[in-house]
Amino acid sequence: MPGRGADAGTAAGRHPVSEAAPASEADLSAQERERILAKAALFAPPPATLPDGRRDLVGLSREELAAEMVAIGEKPFRANQLWHWIYHQGVTDFAAMPTIAKPMQAKLAERFVVGRPEVTAEQTSEDTTRKWLFRWRDGQQVETVYIPDRQEDRGAVCISTQVGCTLSCTFCHTGTQKLVRNLGTAEIVGQFMAARDSYGEWPSPKDGTPRLLSNIVVMGMGEPLYNYEATAKALKIIMDHEGIGLSRRRITLSTSGVVPMMDRCGQELGVGLAVSLHAVTNELRNEIVPLNRNYPIEELLAACRRYPGASNARRITFEYVMLRGVNDSEAEARELVRLLKGIPAKVNLIPFNPWPGSPYLTSRTEQVQRFADIVMDAGYSSPIRRPRGRDILAACGQLKTESERARKKAGPA
Ligand code: SAH
Ligand code: SF4
Repeated sequence: MPGRGADAGTAAGRHPVSEAAPASEADLSAQERERILAKAALFAPPPATLPDGRRDLVGLSREELAAEMVAIGEKPFRANQLWHWIYHQGVTDFAAMPTIAKPMQAKLAERFVVGRPEVTAEQTSEDTTRKWLFRWRDGQQVETVYIPDRQEDRGAVCISTQVGCTLSCTFCHTGTQKLVRNLGTAEIVGQFMAARDSYGEWPSPKDGTPRLLSNIVVMGMGEPLYNYEATAKALKIIMDHEGIGLSRRRITLSTSGVVPMMDRCGQELGVGLAVSLHAVTNELRNEIVPLNRNYPIEELLAACRRYPGASNARRITFEYVMLRGVNDSEAEARELVRLLKGIPAKVNLIPFNPWPGSPYLTSRTEQVQRFADIVMDAGYSSPIRRPRGRDILAACGQLKTESERARKKAGPA
């Protein structure tokens, strides 16, 4: 399998500490964070500039936007106006920004664009789940999915953070694709904005008013904590009250367990956390989630125990993919309950979603139910996730096919 375990023990992983002075625990995690961030930089996206030299304004922080205005001889407050048009109104054409005078609109259009990904494909499932294949300026593509609530007019957009993934979890389709590169801030925000375009949900609904695209789950392709800087910046833009204004309570980030970045994520972003646990022994987790070799279950759960903001009102979600005969026994359910003791937790049981050539079978329905009952009897909410969008390969862990097929067709880069 290409890329399998590429990260599990190498560059972003743990290195032996050989220097004379013993390093403290805190020093070690600071060093690991540095290594993870340095590794991310190696997979940086191309610059956000068009071939004609115009710069994409999407993805800039407020401060950066103000600096761009100053650089072209304008007052920094112009950034506030632009922010409103770009993120609150969803406008992409400077000529449609009436609070900006015509000559200034022309000046902006000469130097800047308000970008969106190109939509290469859009499919809507029988169950109304919608999937897009988005293409970036360098031809790379990722998938984004909107999963509408079954009862109410709301739903979650599942966003990708990398093209491919280094981590090679054995049950995940994305994991069979090598990491090509990280997505940039504009590309992460752009997925949500393009999804909103598709449903015409502009301007951004005010606080308290219902939204169709009401939640974000950072659970698409890639490991968000291996692309932390861009992901964090994108989520900050999405949460900004004068723009899209989506509350951090409506955002959940899923990690396979990049322990050194988890505290920072909680402190800086305060978003909900989902942890892809999938196994209750290190032996099995080492095999199916190879990152476990770097950060074993005890360390992962310790990071969950100290995750800032976790409480009974804001539980950590533990994701558990149900693989027939591999991790779905009743004994494992009981062990899961023991491990989670003391953590404000809920458990999402995800019946394995097969993909072409996948090596596992989905657990039997009765077995999933037995597992769920044990977890529930111990006091944890344990919903069984019904797969959504399976017919268009949009369900958890199925993303990749389209993007890779499209790339193969396009030939080598
Ligand atoms: N890299 C991050 C986020 C993306 S994966 C992570 O691993 O958490 C989103 C979720 O889908 C994870 O819990 C992942 O384990 C799960 N998943 C992956 N492949 C799956 C499959 N084939 N069937 C069901 N769930 C799967
Ligand atoms: Fe990467 Fe998450 Fe898939 Fe594992 S489950 S290979 S971390 S995307």
